[in-house]
Amino acid sequence: MSTLKLTKSGSGIVLHYREMKFAFDVGLHTDVTLISHAHADHVSNLACSGSLVATAETLETLAARGEPLPQCTSTAKYDEPVELNHVRITTLNAGHVLGSAMFLLEFDDGLRVLYTGDYNAVDSVVHRAARPVHADVLITEATYGSPEWVFPERANVHKMIIDKARAELDEGRIPLFKAYSLGKAQEAIAVLQREGLEVLSGNRVIDDVSDVYSRHGVDLRYVSLGSEAASEALERGCAIVSSSPNHTYSAVERVLGPERARDLWGWTNTYTLSGWALREVNRGGFPLSAHTDFPGLMGFTEAVAPRITYCFAGNAGKFSSHLSLAGFAAVSLE
Ligand SMILES: [Zn+2]
Repeated sequence: MSTLKLTKSGSGIVLHYREMKFAFDVGLHTDVTLISHAHADHVSNLACSGSLVATAETLETLAARGEPLPQCTSTAKYDEPVELNHVRITTLNAGHVLGSAMFLLEFDDGLRVLYTGDYNAVDSVVHRAARPVHADVLITEATYGSPEWVFPERANVHKMIIDKARAELDEGRIPLFKAYSLGKAQEAIAVLQREGLEVLSGNRVIDDVSDVYSRHGVDLRYVSLGSEAASEALERGCAIVSSSPNHTYSAVERVLGPERARDLWGWTNTYTLSGWALREVNRGGFPLSAHTDFPGLMGFTEAVAPRITYCFAGNAGKFSSHLSLAGFAAVSLE
């Protein structure tokens, strides 16, 4: 096997192999830049890319947010391999957010390299779980790569969120769920709407991203804070999903006026939806994660059965140590 070299570049990774260079999740003047998904920490310097490959959903989300893109972009489709510079590239669902992708690179000497980006090995109500495929080299995220990170069953987390929303609304309060505008916000909206609760989207960026979800067949029903229906929904009592409560409050002030907004905010409680909230259950957060937990990372790696694993992000150092203890060759890129 020729020498394979991986280097970090910002929050992205560059792979060198047999005179070829691929950049993952960072814009560089390389042969090809592969973007796994549209979260901000995976899309730096995109306009610098020579050419960029991403799913239609990711490209549309980037465009909706006004991210500058290079002239040359290619749309990747799940499970449809393409040949690029004599390398077969297959885009696989990563289960993290709409359009999120893992990339399997197959070189003509038989080497298989899997880059996961961020992934989730559990179904959510709006995203399908990532499925492992065999690779010789695994380049995996390790956000929750330490044994204390074990998430409850997702259905139980959904139930906790719904129960809290109902309890707050029954007491005349407004529950505000703080969630990333891409992925988690749409899952929160879907979970609450499925229970028949009225949901208000608290930020324009959530509306823009949700439009992309809707265009790709995800049914999301909610009242936009920018719409005429917003003041009635607020007065009636509704759950709010917001990526930025401060911006939401400013918008509520514009809708209801400063006095009524201040009054209403006194009856509003904020709950963060994040895997990190595992330590804060019932103290202002619910552990709804778009990433897989430690057992999920271990199980996924075992199923890929790589000869070597490179770990990045979050608990990369700890995860590579645990993999080594379990008998895998593993290296932290952090
Ligand atoms: Zn992400």
